[in-house]
Amino acid sequence: MSQLPNPVKFTEMRNKTVIFRVDLNAPMKDGKVSDLTRIKRPAAGILALAEQGAKVVVASHFGRPKGKPSPELSLAPVAEALSQCLHLPVRFVRDIVGDTAAAAIKDMQNGEVILLENLRFDPREEANDATFAEQLMAGIDIYINDAFSCSHRAHASISAAAKLRPAFAGPLMMAELEALDQVLGGNPKRPLAAVVGGAKVSSKLDLLSNLVNQVDVLIVGGGMANTFLLADGIDIGASLAEADLVETAKKIKSAAKASGCQLILPTDGVVATAFSAHAPHRTVRFANSAIASDEMILDAGPDAIAAAMAAITPCHTLIWNGPMGAFELPPFDVATSELARHVASLSQKGSMISVAGGGDTIAALNHAKVMDQFSYVSTAGGAFLEWLEGKPLPGVAVLLETA
Ligand code: AMP
Repeated sequence: MSQLPNPVKFTEMRNKTVIFRVDLNAPMKDGKVSDLTRIKRPAAGILALAEQGAKVVVASHFGRPKGKPSPELSLAPVAEALSQCLHLPVRFVRDIVGDTAAAAIKDMQNGEVILLENLRFDPREEANDATFAEQLMAGIDIYINDAFSCSHRAHASISAAAKLRPAFAGPLMMAELEALDQVLGGNPKRPLAAVVGGAKVSSKLDLLSNLVNQVDVLIVGGGMANTFLLADGIDIGASLAEADLVETAKKIKSAAKASGCQLILPTDGVVATAFSAHAPHRTVRFANSAIASDEMILDAGPDAIAAAMAAITPCHTLIWNGPMGAFELPPFDVATSELARHVASLSQKGSMISVAGGGDTIAALNHAKVMDQFSYVSTAGGAFLEWLEGKPLPGVAVLLETA
């Protein structure tokens, strides 16, 4: 197992003033939080701290205010929603590092929770400014990061602040890292498979390059598979593809060969002349090169689905990112849904650990109704992808420095 940060020990937090960095980016409608899911997640850690008698200073960014106060991106309505989830009062402080914030922190009693204003209202947050970090940590004893989804950003509340006090990982951060550690942490249960789909190779180059060196089986699907088919000299008609990345696709194939990774590309596809739901369609075997110039491959075909299923059945660990076809447009959702259901069933049987996330993956798994049947689904988006790409995440790295 690779190194993990130190988790916060809640029972040791009594009397401590703790800054708890979370991700409160919940959807809003008419100035109110419209879905509490994103608030409920970090609420568990906040509640545990409050119950143990810590003074909890919750800090988060919200949206992209670009370093200036912007009333519609205030965290004030989120404080109300957080209070609702915690069944505790949450005092909202219209300040981040000024006198008002300092006074509010100083006045806190054990078990109290306050929420600071949107960290990104101050340009020094995104600049990872050391002075801002010091001001943020004034009056604070302990730093806790429970925002894996923000940890790919070297921002002051994620990076610089963590260096100033004893720093720990919150429960959500630990759950995420433990799940990720099982799949790419150096000692996964093999065979290890990856399913990578989505629109374009260009957005997943780093991901593919990292995975070919780590996984035993790599299934490439979706629009991005078309560039690989093009590299194999297959006529793909009007399909989405990146002709300028044909050489890159060839290099990825060679890298897979060199590292003993079985790279599986679709051998057949479902094609249509319109990118729309229920467009007239047919199945084409690529070996026959029978795709017309106005046809697009919008989904993997039955042979491709069967081959992918056969390849992943013996695998004990699997990573999934991106759909296998244009899943929003039935019937071009079949490959994504069938393969997702297969992975879900292997995971439920206990023969596979499956971890999915990034981009449209959650929507695709929801569409297939298997969201809760994978072993772990990451909601961390960009951070999850950067981690899959093998990049060190600043927010995790800083916690490891002190672990
Ligand atoms: P990404 O955000 O890169 O994971 O891409 C997801 C998008 O890729 C979804 O909106 C899919 O509709 C799209 N997609 C998947 N397969 C295809 C395909 N064969 N042709 C066009 N778009 C596709």
